[in-house]
Amino acid sequence: MVLEAAIKNQLNQYLQLMEGNVQLKVSAGSDQLSKDLLAFIDEIASLSSQITVEKASLPRTPSFSVNRPGEDTGITFAGIPLGHEFTSLVLALLQVSGRAPKVDQGVIDQIKKISGEYHFETYVSLSCHNCPDVIQALNVMSLLNPNISNTMIDGASFKEEAESKNIMAVPAVYLNGEFFNGGRISLEEILAKLGSAPDSSALSNKDPFDVLVVGGGPSGASAAIYTARKGLRTGVVAERFGGQIQETLGIDNFISVKHTEGPKLAASLEEHVKDYDVDVMNLQRAKDIKKNDLFEVELESGAVLKSKAVILSTGARWRNVNVPGEQEFKNKGVAYCPHCDGPLFEGKDVAVIGGGNSGIEAAIDLAGIVKHVTVLEFMPELKADEVLQKRLYSLPNVTVLKNVQTKEINGTDKVTGITCVDRATQDETHIELQGVFVQIGLVPNTDWLEGTVERTRVGEIIVDKYGATSVPGLYAAGDCTNSPYKQIIISMGSGATAALGAFDYLIRN
Ligand SMILES: Cc1cc2nc3c(=O)[nH]c(=O)nc-3n(C[C@H](O)[C@H](O)[C@H](O)COP(=O)(O)OP(=O)(O)OC[C@H]3O[C@@H](n4cnc5c(N)ncnc54)[C@H](O)[C@@H]3O)c2cc1C
Repeated sequence: MVLEAAIKNQLNQYLQLMEGNVQLKVSAGSDQLSKDLLAFIDEIASLSSQITVEKASLPRTPSFSVNRPGEDTGITFAGIPLGHEFTSLVLALLQVSGRAPKVDQGVIDQIKKISGEYHFETYVSLSCHNCPDVIQALNVMSLLNPNISNTMIDGASFKEEAESKNIMAVPAVYLNGEFFNGGRISLEEILAKLGSAPDSSALSNKDPFDVLVVGGGPSGASAAIYTARKGLRTGVVAERFGGQIQETLGIDNFISVKHTEGPKLAASLEEHVKDYDVDVMNLQRAKDIKKNDLFEVELESGAVLKSKAVILSTGARWRNVNVPGEQEFKNKGVAYCPHCDGPLFEGKDVAVIGGGNSGIEAAIDLAGIVKHVTVLEFMPELKADEVLQKRLYSLPNVTVLKNVQTKEINGTDKVTGITCVDRATQDETHIELQGVFVQIGLVPNTDWLEGTVERTRVGEIIVDKYGATSVPGLYAAGDCTNSPYKQIIISMGSGATAALGAFDYLIRN
């Protein structure tokens, strides 16, 4: 295996940043993949005299671990970490060599304090854009705590193993042999799931904010920057900073940036917000809001934050199709992210529920990977743009069923088919397939506001042109509002509007 010249050049530059020696222990056999892995390792080792290689016997072949000389770190890669996982390997090499991971000191202390044995096995696909963050988070934990280890397992290289565990969505994390988590999860979220969350009682003791932003997506970040720039004491409380863009692969319509990736934009948003004196309280979910002299926002943890004005920017989440089998087979054939999970259905038959833009984009994307795609649209016509429909109908391995209602997703321990009903004739059809991608839009994250603020029939918060809601001092922005279009640039603009609206409210009251 030969690395492309550009990648090799880039890797060479990164390896110059190594601060100490690294020992790679390689378990290889005589199969072709082992030969490719050995060639890959040799090529990496040839770029730095600080990397040594030794043969070893590891639980999986081919695989290799990344260690300090004489001290195993618990970081192992099973398969060849190319594609999106190449960055995970580069970071592992640098961090094992001594370069400090970019993690807050509080989080480092939390990891070091964890007691007990935690052995993670994380199944990935090399084209999954959510997987590297999970691998990198678990690798940092392995590096900092000798009781923790993590093995990245390329599902395509260890197909039988992945199939025996019925893994149909990645990343799929197993802890000590038991399923731990499916999908993207941040380092802080992993720690919280292990019961090692930071003490939240300190939150209640915070002085009241001038403006508290609830939600840390593009709209919340924009609102926080605007209020902080007005000199207002600003806090952001977010269940997961970054919001939906954390799930987005390529972004080509964020004006002035020709192309970026969701997690990269999320990191830039956080960096920009933290450039100001904004108190970011991540991994905290708001569950109630009351207005007395001040607004009081109650969090799931029990803490209560006070503020003179509040901007709601809680965004939206995937809409479920709500048929029998959907919950039962989530990650066992039912998927929501074609970019992440598409490769796991290579050569298989799948359905896409939803004929809007996202459904048809997903169907076109999947048609290049899977054997056959059936699109199920509830309405008599597809709602996707004409150009997407044209492309879809030009594909040989796609069937479109219109005016059909999904009745059930069938399976035993994983998806085996889908049952739908023709809405005109009531005829029932059963299609045998292995995967179902649900692409029927988004629901606003506003259930917790029931009875507190005026919302539309579908739960969107109603705002005026200043971002003001029906409650004085309570503003809203982004995808959680009745804004007709849900886009990053629009949510950022509405965040700025709500921030200026809130500023205006505060100077008048
Ligand atoms: C797969 C996908 C691809 C997309 N691609 C594009 C694209 O290419 N271009 C584009 O312009 N747009 C795209 N979008 C749309 C875009 O991501 C959204 O319009 C945008 O993220 C909305 O920003 P927001 O801040 O309003 O909400 P979100 O991004 O949804 O952020 C909401 C925030 O609120 C937090 N939150 C929710 N509930 C609570 C609670 N109770 N308490 C505390 N915090 C809470 C969340 O954790 C999150 O931090 C895409 C969306 C998806 C899902």
